[in-house]
This record gives sequence, structure tokens and C-alpha cells, in this order.
Amino acid sequence: MTYRNIPHFTIKKNLQKSKNTGIYFSDILNDDVLSDVCYKITGKHDYTLNFVENDYKDEFLSDTYNKGRLAILQYESTIHYISFSENRANGRNSSVQSVPTAFNIFFCNSYPNKKLHYYFLDTQLGNFETDYLIFMYRLMATIGFNFLNADNVLTHKIKAFSSIEDIIFNRKNNSERNKGNNSTYITKSGANSIDIYGKVYGANKYESSMLCYALSLLCHEHQKITLYEIIEKDLKRLPEISRKVIEEMGVIKIIPTDITLEKQIFKYNDSLRSPRYIYNLLDRIGPKQCVLCECGIPELIQGAHIWSVSSIKKEANMIYEEKLNHAINGHNGLWLCENHHKLFDENILMIKENGTIYYQEKIPIEHREFIAKITTIGCLPEFIMSEQFVEYLWQRNKAV
Ligand SMILES: [Zn+2]
Repeated sequence: MTYRNIPHFTIKKNLQKSKNTGIYFSDILNDDVLSDVCYKITGKHDYTLNFVENDYKDEFLSDTYNKGRLAILQYESTIHYISFSENRANGRNSSVQSVPTAFNIFFCNSYPNKKLHYYFLDTQLGNFETDYLIFMYRLMATIGFNFLNADNVLTHKIKAFSSIEDIIFNRKNNSERNKGNNSTYITKSGANSIDIYGKVYGANKYESSMLCYALSLLCHEHQKITLYEIIEKDLKRLPEISRKVIEEMGVIKIIPTDITLEKQIFKYNDSLRSPRYIYNLLDRIGPKQCVLCECGIPELIQGAHIWSVSSIKKEANMIYEEKLNHAINGHNGLWLCENHHKLFDENILMIKENGTIYYQEKIPIEHREFIAKITTIGCLPEFIMSEQFVEYLWQRNKAV
């Protein structure tokens, strides 16, 4: 690599779909844009430029099309990676979907004197400040992206997350409005155990990757993070390059959970600590919190089946796949603390099909009083009471 007194851009000309769209990165990155980028990074307006073809490669670019919507800018001996936004923000992920790729390329290069930037192109088209996008920008800031022109184009100030708890808290607020959106969930199973449940195909993989990178960088020594990859029928895992980056960061343990694993858990367990069941509950009813006392201590909160796994297994006229589906169905359950889970499993405390809580008649008065004291919710909230949930209640109650 030669030392450069004048800032120099090297940019892959072809985007992934340039052949079909006829739009090349060299059309998008005109002199106005590059001059502005150059000035913001180096304090200089003048630069030299080389748009290169797919077969070009050097220490920083491999011989492929432009991945990550990247430009490489060298000034003196520093290498700047600049990722550019899409021209329009449409859909949940599209405007930031090249960001993890840009980060992967940046992260995997061992050159020490490097920096990572993000530049917004024309933001007239679409809303670049949805809650979701703001959350993603904050993840980007957390993993080291420097926003070159955010002050000019956004009304929000982008603030990096300060801790894992900060991410979980904001994530909760961000996802409460989007229940059931097949998203990635972060939850705790202990004070220092953080679990990520992520769908890893399609657009979900961008979000899952970004979350993993940010959590890895914020993780303290006493904390432990596990990523459960929720693998669907297509058997696609998180892209290999993302897994490589996560592994190199050395913090997160990745557990692929496909249906074979679920079958084993179903076969050998009645309690069913199945990642997919937990994922489905998070997806349907949101963060872990006991619905009968609002306890949120992660060590105490469990997914409680309405129609129990042991009863499902005993069902005579049902094929195996159907049984498994009932066992991991997010409608077949709610979050309960250990006390309430046990009371519910023993049928000391029961739930009517209209959601009302009632107690077994023959329990001693002092126990009844205690249960009444710890059970602050007398009727299940509306969002729990789906049609399928009520069917499961009926299924359970007819056996009691
Ligand atoms: Zn409780």
C-alpha cells in the first residue's frame, strides 16, 4: 500500500443488480457526494478516484461486485470504509440491509489503521427516521460506524447504546408495537445470561447480525450470551461470514435450533425448555413477565403450557407432527413466575375460558389468602386471550 498525500477513492462500480437495473454505483456517487465525503473525513475537497470492475482486487477489496455499498478512501496511511444508504427507505430493512455486509468486510480486514463511516444519500424518498431505523442507526453507532452527514439529514441525534441492558430496554419499547412480527428477541434467563432468539433467513438475518455484533462489543466479562438460531424449513443458518465475525468476537455461543432438535426435546422432556417454544411466546405475547403478578426477575420466569406436554403426548388420535406443533405453539402458553407456574401445574390455581383466575376449593384458608396476596392480576389481559389460547384452556380444563 502506498502512502497518499491526496485522498484517493477506490470504488467497485457494479452493484449486485447493476446488470438488470442499469444503475451503477458510479452513477450514484457523483462529484458532489464524493467531494462532501472527502471533506468530512479529511478536511480536503480534492481527491483522486478510481471506479473499478468486478475482477479488481487489492488488500481491501476482493474480486466481486460492490458488496456493502462501499467506497474505500485512503488518506495518508489511514483506510476509510464508507457505506452509503439506499436512495429510498422502503420496507423494514432495505435501507440498511447492506450495513452488516459493510461491517463484515471492515471487521475481517486485519489492517490496523482503519475507520468505518456511513453516509446518507438523497433522503427525500421515504422515511429514514422510523423507530426501527433509529434503532438500527444506534446499533451501527455502537459497533463503530461514524455518521458523516446525519446532522444534515436526520432530526434525531444518533446515540450509541451504553450497555446490553440499554439495548434490551429500547428493544422492548421498539417491539411492543410490533408483536408477532417474526423479529429477533433478546431476553435474559439469568441476571448475567442473555439469550438472543433470532430468525436468520431473509431480512431477519441483517437485524440478528447487527444485534449480535453490538451485544458482543458491549458484553462484560461476567455476562454470558447465547444466540439461538431459529432455523426454518429451508435450513438456512445465519450467513457464514456473519457467524465468522461473531465467532471472532469470541463472546456469543451460537446454538442452531432446527426441528430435529425440537423433536429430541419433545421426546425426552415434558417440561419442554424448547428454544422455539420460547421464541413463539416472545413473538406472541412479548417480553418475559409473569401475567399473574408482573414479576420480571428473569431467573424466575418460565413458559407455562396451557395444554401440558405430557397430556399432548398421551393424545391417542393424533399424529406425531401435530403433537409437536401443539407443544411448541406460542398460543399454548403464557409467562409465569415459578410460584405461579407450580400453582397452575398443580391446578391449585386455575384459569376459566373467559380469562378469570380462580382457586381450587379445598385448599386451606391461609394458603388461599397467601395466593390471593401474590396474585395481583385477577383476569388475564386481552392480548393473551387469542382464540387458540382459549381452545387450549378448554382442552386443559375439561381434564381437570
Ligand atoms: Zn407470578
